[in-house]
Amino acid sequence: PTIVQDDITIAQQAKLKPIGDIAALLGLKEDDYEPYGHYKAKVKLDVLKRLKTKQDGKLILVTGISPTPAGEGKSTVTVGLGQALNRLGRKAVVALREPSLGPTMGIKGGATGGGYSQVLPMEDINLHFTGDIHAITAANNALSALIDNHIHQGNQLGIDPRRIIWKRVLDMNDRALRQVVVGLGGPAQGVPRQDGFDITVASEVMAVLCLSEDIEDLKQRLSRMVIGYTYDKQPVTVADLKAQGAMALLLKDALKPNLVQTLENTPAFIHGGPFANIAHGCNSLVATKMALKLAEYTVTEAGFGADLGAEKFINIKSRAGGLKPDAAVIVATVRALKMHGGVPKDQLKAENVEAVKKGLENLAQHVHIMHHFRLPCVVALNHFLHDTETELKVIEQWCEEQGVPFTVCRVWAEGGRGGEALAETVIKLVEGQQTGKENKNPAADESLRFTYPLEASIADKIRAIATNIYGARDVQFSPKAQKQMEQFEMYGWGKLPICMAKTQYSFSDAPNRLGRPTGFTLTIRELKPSIGAGFIVALTGDVMTMPGLPKEPAALKMNIDNEGKVEGLF
Ligand code: ADP
Repeated sequence: PTIVQDDITIAQQAKLKPIGDIAALLGLKEDDYEPYGHYKAKVKLDVLKRLKTKQDGKLILVTGISPTPAGEGKSTVTVGLGQALNRLGRKAVVALREPSLGPTMGIKGGATGGGYSQVLPMEDINLHFTGDIHAITAANNALSALIDNHIHQGNQLGIDPRRIIWKRVLDMNDRALRQVVVGLGGPAQGVPRQDGFDITVASEVMAVLCLSEDIEDLKQRLSRMVIGYTYDKQPVTVADLKAQGAMALLLKDALKPNLVQTLENTPAFIHGGPFANIAHGCNSLVATKMALKLAEYTVTEAGFGADLGAEKFINIKSRAGGLKPDAAVIVATVRALKMHGGVPKDQLKAENVEAVKKGLENLAQHVHIMHHFRLPCVVALNHFLHDTETELKVIEQWCEEQGVPFTVCRVWAEGGRGGEALAETVIKLVEGQQTGKENKNPAADESLRFTYPLEASIADKIRAIATNIYGARDVQFSPKAQKQMEQFEMYGWGKLPICMAKTQYSFSDAPNRLGRPTGFTLTIRELKPSIGAGFIVALTGDVMTMPGLPKEPAALKMNIDNEGKVEGLF
């Protein structure tokens, strides 16, 4: 069927079940969760304790090729695959991230899937939802207020106002706030200093929330966060400021996973939302673990291409939480392949078989990355209405040559039904009967390969990611980054994993180098300690931790009327 309806229209026609019915599907009892209205609930962490000895279900990681600015449909395929697995009689749960208001108001729209594969209620999830991101903003900015107050009240810790690395945050794309001066106006208004805003989903508090196992762990992690340095260059932590208790209190409900449902009433956890280009890009560990206890299959997504979200899923989240995906799905689209094959963005709808062929080199690197981790994978071609049979055939043939299973996925147009072929392939990969004659996938029970050992130096870890994952020839460290590496090793932070901050458009640090660039040098501009989250952020090229709005922001098409009818969310 040709779809003319937009996402919000489809969502508004949905027949939602009361959230209690969805919880019951998962075997949750009434006192296991707290309803937030009719269609949302927060699940208590006690459930994890109760089910501690229960065996985990299978974990499917959805990743993708290097995207176009519109996104290639990973969330859509994640939701559709969950629905399809349920149609095939497997008890499946979807585990996604919470959308940030920045991209929702900006260029990308929401992050609740699309077409007939959406999570609902999308107006809530895309806007304020259960308030988790606001709580993170509040906790982050409470700490900022405590820092400035500490300095104003005599600065007993000797914090150097020029060496504060803790920034204020806001969940919006607002470039005007990247650099600000606070404390202006004379002695009664505090001590003036340069500050700046990051987007909330890039904050360390978001990362901490997403990696914490429980309130105690959350508090420990918050305590370890470094906010800056003293005049004699010693790190100052949240514990020094005694702020962890208040911050954990502000986050007490935000730490509980949110339960909602898809258009086909498949249960979905939506919890935690770090960006994948400037943060670690995966939903919360507690939500993933809960899903694994409650379902046979958990389908989860990691942001942007496999070079970003999936790399961090393995080297950061899996390592922290002892997770191992049983299989990966690489979402590809004809339009992104064409873009990697050199077609300008305004001509991606016209058939161009040669460009598709050329663009496959980008997909090849993502398959390589999955195999590097020893994850069996399937390529899911997210079907768009203007894709042609010839274009699809070229991709199918290529996958056959590579020995990687391939399916066309029509979950956007058809919902779960359009994802049954993908679901069948995933089941075969996971349950041991590999598909395809010359399948080059590793076996599902092979152990995970991390890209680097934690004991390696910061420089070696970054180099391992750059060469093995991105295909770089070398890494160049700015003088600032070099100095920071020395200092960080001296402070005892050298054994942490790395969280790369890199453009999502290219394997390199230059957004315009599409396809599969070779022979390039990755530039590390600066490092940032995220000691509470438990990683070192490495900023490459000129990636921004506070995005700006585009010329035509999505916000300009949004509306609501007296009947409460919402327009312009997608
Ligand atoms: P990602 O998670 O990879 O960023 P999304 O699943 O959020 O991508 O999809 C991005 C946008 O593209 C959404 O607005 C979605 O509705 C739309 N979309 C996804 N798949 C299709 C498709 N097959 N045809 C048309 N639009 C699609």
